[in-house]
Amino acid sequence: MDYFEYRNGELFCEDVPVKAVARKVGTPFYLYSYGTFERHLRVFDGAFGDMPHIVCYSLKANPNGALLRTVARLGGGADIVSGGELYRALEAGIPAEKIVYSGVGKSREELRYAIDAGIRMINIESEGELRLLARLSRNMKKRVPVSIRVNPEIDPKTHPYITTGLKKNKFGVLWADALRLYREMAAEEYLAPVGISSHIGSQILELGPFIEAVTSLKSMILELKGRGITVEMLDIGGGLGITYKDELPPDPAQYARAIRENLGNTGVTLILEPGRVIVGNSGIFVTKLLYVKGTAGKIFYVVDGAMNDLVRPSLYNAYHEILPVEEGKTKTEVVDLVGPICESGDFFAKDRELASLKEGDLVAIKGAGAYGFAMSSNYNSRRRAAEVLVKGGEFFVVRRRETYKDLKRGESIPQFLEV
Ligand SMILES: *Cc1c(COP(=O)(O)O)cnc(C)c1O
Repeated sequence: MDYFEYRNGELFCEDVPVKAVARKVGTPFYLYSYGTFERHLRVFDGAFGDMPHIVCYSLKANPNGALLRTVARLGGGADIVSGGELYRALEAGIPAEKIVYSGVGKSREELRYAIDAGIRMINIESEGELRLLARLSRNMKKRVPVSIRVNPEIDPKTHPYITTGLKKNKFGVLWADALRLYREMAAEEYLAPVGISSHIGSQILELGPFIEAVTSLKSMILELKGRGITVEMLDIGGGLGITYKDELPPDPAQYARAIRENLGNTGVTLILEPGRVIVGNSGIFVTKLLYVKGTAGKIFYVVDGAMNDLVRPSLYNAYHEILPVEEGKTKTEVVDLVGPICESGDFFAKDRELASLKEGDLVAIKGAGAYGFAMSSNYNSRRRAAEVLVKGGEFFVVRRRETYKDLKRGESIPQFLEV
C-alpha cells in the first residue's frame, strides 16, 4: 500500500505530479510520501494492539530528519547502530527511553555517549563489549540497562548479505555463551540485564523464521528466569520484508499475531525494530534518461542517477520496479538501465522490458525509500541527490542536492602543497 499512482497517465506522489518536483529540484532525487510513511508506522504499531510494545524505527533504513521527526511525533522510538544515529535520533526529538542500540562494533566513545544519553537498552554483541561496558558503567557510576543479542541460529532464507542470525554470521552471541554472560552481568553493580534481543536478517518473506526465533527466545527467557534473571524486554529486531516485484510478505497483522501466539504469557515488553517495512515503499528514486545507446544488439538507457545514489541493484542484485513518469506508451523495449559511473556494476536493471523511452524522459525507481539514500556515496565525485517529502498537495525539499563545494567539505591541503 502506497500513495504513488498514475493519474491521467502521469505519475503522482499523493497529490503532487512527480514531474512538477523534477522541474523544481532537477534530477536525480528521492521522493518520499509522508502519508505512506505515516500510515505504515501506524499500521505496524496498531498490529500489536494492547500488547506492551515499543516500535523502534530502524534508522539505518533511512535517517532523514523529516522522517525521524514524524516517528517522534507519532510516539515511536529508534533502533540505532552507531553514535551518529544516536545523535540524529535525539536531534529529531525521539526520547532516549525509546532508543535501543545494536551493533557488533560499538566503540568506547559511542558506548559512553549512549550511557550519558540514558537510552533504553544497549544490546551487547560480544564478551569484549560486555567487559568494556562494565568498566565504563563503573567509571561513570551509572546504571546501564543492557540486553544480550543472541544468535538464534535461524536461516531467514533471504539474501546472504542480509542474513544475520546464522552461526557463521558476525552478529550476536550463541546461547551457551549468552547464559554465562548474563550470569557475569548479574554480578556487576551497574549493569542491569533488562532484556534479550535478536535480529535474524532483512527482507524476510515468511513467518516461519520469526516464529522459530520467538519460540527459541521464549525458552531462553524461561531458562534465565529459572536462574533468577528476569528480563522485562524482548527485542525481536526487524526484518519484515516488502514487495519489490511479486513477493508476498506477511502483513503486519499476521506478523504480530504470529509473535503474540508463540510468545504466550511471558509478560515482557516487546521491542520491534522495523526499517524496510516502514519506509521501503514510502519512497521512489527519480532519474532522467540522458541517452539511448545501442551497442552490439543491446540497448542501454543511460540515466543521470547511478549506483552511488541507489546501490541495491549493484550490491544485492536487487530488483526494483521501474516506471516511466509519463505513462501511455504501449511500445516496450528490452534494455539495460544504467548510470554514468565508470563501473560495469553501475546498473538499475538488466535485460528488462521497459516502456520505450526517449531522451529527456523521467523514470521512477520504486521501493527506494529504504537503504536508498542511506547507502549513497560521493563515488565519482557525484553530488548526493536531493530528498523531497510530499504531503498532500505540497512538497518540501528535506535535503538539498549537494553542491560542488560540499564535495570538498572537511578536506584541507597541507602547507607544503600550497601555492
Ligand atoms: C538493519 C536492522 C534492523 C532493520 O531491518 P529491516 O530489515 O530494515 O526491518 C533492525 N534491527 C537491527 C539490529 C538491524 O541491524
